Amino acid sequence: MNFFIKTFGCQMNKSDSERIVTTLQNASMTHVDCPEDADVIILNTCSIRKSAEDRVFTFLSRNKKSDGPTIGVTGCMVNIQKKKLSEKASFCFEIKDLENLPQIIGKQTTKAVTIDSADYLNIAPSLESKIHAYIPIMSGCDNFCSYCVVPYSRGREVSRKSENIIQEINELVKKGYKAFTLIGQNVNSYGKNLEEDINFEQLLRRICAIDADFWIWFVSSHPKDMSKELINTIAREQKLCSYIHFAVQSGSDTILKAMNRHYTHNHCIELTDYIKATIPNVSLSTDIIVGFPGETTKDFDDTLDLCKRIDFNMAYISRFSPRPGTKAALLEETVSPQGKKEREHLILDILKNKNIQNNKKMIGETVTVLIDKQIVTKTREEKNTLYIGKTAPFKTVKCNSKKPIETGQFVRVAITNARDWGFEGEVVRA
Ligand code: SF4
Repeated sequence: MNFFIKTFGCQMNKSDSERIVTTLQNASMTHVDCPEDADVIILNTCSIRKSAEDRVFTFLSRNKKSDGPTIGVTGCMVNIQKKKLSEKASFCFEIKDLENLPQIIGKQTTKAVTIDSADYLNIAPSLESKIHAYIPIMSGCDNFCSYCVVPYSRGREVSRKSENIIQEINELVKKGYKAFTLIGQNVNSYGKNLEEDINFEQLLRRICAIDADFWIWFVSSHPKDMSKELINTIAREQKLCSYIHFAVQSGSDTILKAMNRHYTHNHCIELTDYIKATIPNVSLSTDIIVGFPGETTKDFDDTLDLCKRIDFNMAYISRFSPRPGTKAALLEETVSPQGKKEREHLILDILKNKNIQNNKKMIGETVTVLIDKQIVTKTREEKNTLYIGKTAPFKTVKCNSKKPIETGQFVRVAITNARDWGFEGEVVRA
C-alpha cells in the first residue's frame, strides 16, 4: 500500500509529517512523492490563516473520497473544523494519536514503533535532510494571543522530557548530523509543565554538553519570556548560534495590548539592546501582523519605528486574517486588504534596504559556513559546482570552491559579494 503526505504550514507540521512517515513505513507501507500513485493520502493541515484552510478544502474538493484514495486529515484544522472535514475526508485523527494511524487505515503495525504512548514526539522521524534536523521540544501554547488559534488547534502547552530530546540529538550526532533547530510555539517556557526541574536554558546547556561538532538554532521566542539568562547562555555556549527569532507582532503598545501580548514597544528595544551588547554579530528576525483591527497609521508607524530601531535581518509578515473562535475575530476590521498589502510592502522595503547595507559591511570578511547543498551545472566545456550553506547567524551563502566539498562540512568562506538574501563567496579553507 502506498501513501502520500501533503504538509501545510509551519516547521512543526513538517516535523510531525516526518513522524507520520516512520509510523506508516513501520506498518509496511511505501512513501510515494505523487498523490496519483497513492492508496492513502494524509493531509497535515494548518489553520493559522484562512488561505491555508482554503487550500485544504480545495484539495479535498478535487480529490473526492468516493472516487479515489483514502484521505486522512490531521494537524491544526482537525480540532476546529472536524465536522466540515469529516464530510469531505475519509477520516480525521489528532496528531497525538499518531500511533493508532495504521489501525485506522486498516494496517496492523508489523514493526514496533518506538513510542512512549503519552508522547507521539518520541516516534523517530524520517528526516528529509541528512545534515540539519528539526527537533520539537514542546507542542501547543498557553498564551492565548487574541488573534491565534494555536491554543485551540494544538491544545495547551506540553514539553517533551529532556532525556528524550537529548537521546534523539545524540543518535543524530552519531549519524553525522551537524545542525539542529529546536522548535516549539514558545520555546522560552520549555519545562513549565514537566515533573523534572528544568528550564529552556538548562536544556540548551545539556545539549551543548554533547561531545561533537554541531550548531543549534531555535524558534520561536516570545519577547515577554526571553530572559537575560538565555541571552547570556547563547553568548557563552559555542554551539548556540548567534541568531534569535523573536516575534514582536507589532510596535504599537495599543495593538500589543489588544493582541494580549504582555509586553511593550520599549521592552522590545531594551531586550534588543541587551542582546546586541551581549552577543557580537547577532542576527535577529521576527514575525509581524499588519492590519490588526483598530491599527491606525500612528500604530503602524510605531511598528515601522521598531523595525528600524531593532534592525531585523528578516521578518515574516502576515496580513491580519480573522480566525473563528479567537477574540480578535469578534473585532471590526478597520484596514482594507489594499491597506494591509501596502503596510506589508513598506516593512519589506525597509528590511531589504537595511539588509543590503548591513550585508555589504561583511564583504572582505571570512566566515564559517555549514554546507548543506550542492548545485552542479554542466555545459559542453565544463562542469561547475555551486555550494550553498548557512552561517551561524543563519545567513545564506553561495560559494565556489577549488577543491570538492562534502555537504555537512564546515568551511571558511571569504565573502566577495552581498545580496539582500545573504552572501556570495569563495571557500578559503575546507
Ligand atoms: S504565543 Fe504564538 S502560538 Fe501561542 S497563542 Fe501567541 S501567537 Fe499563538
